[in-house]
Amino acid sequence: MKLSLAHFCLIAFIVLESVNSAAIYYLHQASPSQPRQVQSAGQADAKRILAPAIIELARNMRATAARIAQHPQTVSSLKAGPERERQAQLSNIHTLYPDAHIQWALPNGNAFAPPLSQVYSRIQAGAKGDPAPAKAVSGPSSLLLIITEPVIDPQSKAILGFVVIRKSAAEIFSLFESLQLQDAYAELQQANSNGPHDVLMRLGDTHLKANAFQELTDLPGTAWRLVVWRIPASPAKPAASPPQLHLAAWLLTSIFLALGMAGLYFALRKALKNDIDTILVFFSDIRHSRLRKAYPIKLKDLEQSFGLMYRLGKLMLGKHKQVSDSASIDHLSQVNNRRSFDIKQNELFKTLTEGWTHSLLIIDIDNFKQVNDTFGHDAGDALIVQFGKALKKHLRSSDFIARLGGDEFCVIFPNTPLKKAAELAGRLRQNLPVELELTHGVMYKLQWSGGLSEYKKTDEAENMALSRADNALLEAKRSGRNQTKLAA
Ligand code: GH3
Ligand code: MG
Repeated sequence: MKLSLAHFCLIAFIVLESVNSAAIYYLHQASPSQPRQVQSAGQADAKRILAPAIIELARNMRATAARIAQHPQTVSSLKAGPERERQAQLSNIHTLYPDAHIQWALPNGNAFAPPLSQVYSRIQAGAKGDPAPAKAVSGPSSLLLIITEPVIDPQSKAILGFVVIRKSAAEIFSLFESLQLQDAYAELQQANSNGPHDVLMRLGDTHLKANAFQELTDLPGTAWRLVVWRIPASPAKPAASPPQLHLAAWLLTSIFLALGMAGLYFALRKALKNDIDTILVFFSDIRHSRLRKAYPIKLKDLEQSFGLMYRLGKLMLGKHKQVSDSASIDHLSQVNNRRSFDIKQNELFKTLTEGWTHSLLIIDIDNFKQVNDTFGHDAGDALIVQFGKALKKHLRSSDFIARLGGDEFCVIFPNTPLKKAAELAGRLRQNLPVELELTHGVMYKLQWSGGLSEYKKTDEAENMALSRADNALLEAKRSGRNQTKLAA
């Protein structure tokens, strides 16, 4: 499968995004959920503080009443006996329970009239429909909670009478008053067998009764109930719920991931493009047989491969130069060979029609055979080598030097008329060394003959100038050697 850089970055982003989403989801699952509804403070206080206090007070009073009702003296005092004795019993009981106001209630025949289970005193009822904010204004001692308990004869199981405890509920009054009602109105109500409930205490704005939500709380063991009207509390707007927070976190991290991946993609693409450009330049240089000293590579991973390519390229160019040199250079004299000479001459011959002028000098070493014969073939070779070096040293770099074969050399003077070429040939004769050391201690007195000619655009063949130079050389040999003749 082929994978582009864009594909790679996309896959990396998908993988990272999946990990990110999984992490945020895990966080979301692990965080506690928030309560959805909030009760108003007044409603909560009424239920939490006031109701238990009233229930506890009634329970204690009932327990006291039960203890008194079951007391043997109570039972015996309600049975028959002189009035004085009963008063004495009453006094004893009262001494036992001084915190309670005790009343004896005798049945009226069988028709003692309960329900005297609970009796109350109203603190401040206010006129019905009174719009003014109502608050308990009478003294706290005005609120009385009254509990009755039947006294039963253990033998006959008949009801002998009732114990009635009337107790001031001052602490209930204070508690009710201390409630901090917010957007709420509360009433402590007493059940009434003749009609609607009587209001014992009220707190807050009565206007709320018209359109607020009503909640009843029964107070077991009493005939009271607590009613609270409150404006339905709009659920408090959480600053940021966990799902919203987590969604925001997910969005933010996703955006960062996407931006980071895009940045990475563009940075990598830029670095890669630079390196590809460098490699293209490198191959172009190889094609043109030249190499720069250094090539910038940005990506570290490519450095090693490119380094290898660079070394191979260098090696290849070296070999190429060797091969091309061996095809154009004379192996002994190290000047151009006959093949190169022909190519060069052909090139220059074509330019004659454009008005250029070129000359050539053909050179032949005098009495070369004697060197071979006298000092050996190696010495003859050495003379050829040294003569080639000397020619290169004393001619212009633009002059083209070639060995045509044996002891015969040729110099082409590009863009040089015959007169100037003759001058250069004369200077060469002056500058070339008089003697050459062929082998150790073997000195040779250098002499050579030359023939000069000029390429003419009227020539039918490119070799005609060479032929004329050859004739001039022959003339120089015939004339005693060690001289240069100009072609006619
Ligand atoms: P001249 O002055 O008339 O030129 O006399 P010469 O002795 O130089 O005669 P010529 O130029 O004709 O002699 C060329 C000789 O060079 C013939 C051949 O034996 C010898 N020769 C040709 N190629 C080589 C070579 O590569 N090495 C050596 N040592 N001798 C060579
Ligand atoms: Mg010769």
